[in-house]
Amino acid sequence: MNKDQIVEVFIEDMSEDGAGIGKADGYPLFVKDAVVGDQVRAKVIKDKKRYAYAKLLEVLEPSPDRVKPLCPVAGPCGGCQLQALSYDAQLAFKRRKVQEHLRRIGGFGIAEEEGGEGIFVRPVMGMEMPWCYRNKEQFPVGRNKEGRIVTGFYAGRTHSIIDTSDCMLSVPVCESVLARFKAWMEQYGIEPYDEETGTGLVRHVLIRSSRHFGSSMVCPVINGEELPHAKELVEALTADPQVVSVCYNVNTSRGNVILGEKVVPLHGQPCIIDKIQDRLFKISPLSFYQVNPTQTERLYAAVREFCGLTGEEVLWDLYCGIGTISLYLSGGVKQAYGVEIVPAAIEDAKMNAQINGCKNVEYYCGKAEEVLPAWVEKEAAEGRTAAADIMIVDPPRKGCDKTLLDTMLQMTPQRIIYVSCDSATLARDLKILCEGGYRVEAVQPVDMFPQTVHVETVVLMSRIQG
Ligand code: SAH
Repeated sequence: MNKDQIVEVFIEDMSEDGAGIGKADGYPLFVKDAVVGDQVRAKVIKDKKRYAYAKLLEVLEPSPDRVKPLCPVAGPCGGCQLQALSYDAQLAFKRRKVQEHLRRIGGFGIAEEEGGEGIFVRPVMGMEMPWCYRNKEQFPVGRNKEGRIVTGFYAGRTHSIIDTSDCMLSVPVCESVLARFKAWMEQYGIEPYDEETGTGLVRHVLIRSSRHFGSSMVCPVINGEELPHAKELVEALTADPQVVSVCYNVNTSRGNVILGEKVVPLHGQPCIIDKIQDRLFKISPLSFYQVNPTQTERLYAAVREFCGLTGEEVLWDLYCGIGTISLYLSGGVKQAYGVEIVPAAIEDAKMNAQINGCKNVEYYCGKAEEVLPAWVEKEAAEGRTAAADIMIVDPPRKGCDKTLLDTMLQMTPQRIIYVSCDSATLARDLKILCEGGYRVEAVQPVDMFPQTVHVETVVLMSRIQG
């Protein structure tokens, strides 16, 4: 392949990050914005010897799975890599992604039919309305070339902001909040933060909403300790009755971490309250909370199904965030423990146990890979064997620390339930657990992030009696 060469290819597959893959002269060609089933004309932009990248010039024959993206900035934004793919095809793409990772990284056989030889990956649980689902957004604030204040999203892999207030994935309240926020900035001459110089004040606007209560929290992230004209901001924002909480977060660091450690309340409590089934949850700005409420209920229902609780179990909820999973399950177990690294989230978890009257849960702050081994050691020192019937892990994308997996194996729970937002690290960790005496019983992917390439997966493993 030569740079600038123009080729016509049939897109026969898609990469993990959503690019179309075709073959030209036997070489794989990655074509961004092309979808599987398209016949396209593309221009080679980078030749990597064994494969090449090309830019889509024209769709000659559209795939039967190609749909028109709903969002006007779907292309430049790049946050929704799969918007041009029909929803059914998105779900098929995600199931295959999980299967491929289990096969390639985990070394597992894949069964196409339930009960067949190898691991059967259940069809992905999708949403009826796969739009406007996100209950949390962090919009960057800046200036465009004309000098106007803009809020929106970073254009794919860049630091320039695409001015858009009505993301098709966020709840509708964001649009009016951002309009009021920008008007307040213009009126009082509040400067957006400039990454290059480190000057200016407003970096991001975090908006979190409770679908259950129809309420929202607005939390600007600022490069300073004080927010001028705060009273006027509160007035402007709370003119919308949905906004029940206004606070700000201080982040004076130069890096691109979004939130700092300090939260200052301006109006109402600096948190949002949401409900999952019969449980109430307080969520602070610094705590993790699942972004898609409809699918969270399905995800947790799958976890409950996999637990098969009898009421006698001792359960660990590792990477527990604000305690959602353990509190959701606490009515059906004897005792639950949760471990989480973020102090604000553990404070929320303890408060959430109280709010819901759950007396059989205990929470510990620290790294799961340190807290759990220390627990085992302490139990041994006191002459007990650290036992657990069910261990649930829900780590961030990088997966579980090896020390944690080893400690879990040492504790010999009957069941391990792995909730994962990255099927590549999931496959890596499942392999380790299988080598340690466990068997994969069921794999249920859940579509938590429609329109994007991301997929959530819940796996049930059981201990092989030795
Ligand atoms: N189970 C929760 C949270 C899952 S997100 C829920 O469903 O809401 C993953 C969580 O792991 C985050 O809250 C993150 O702060 C936490 N975390 C990240 N690394 C960790 C570690 N090494 N030990 C414990 N918790 C960790």
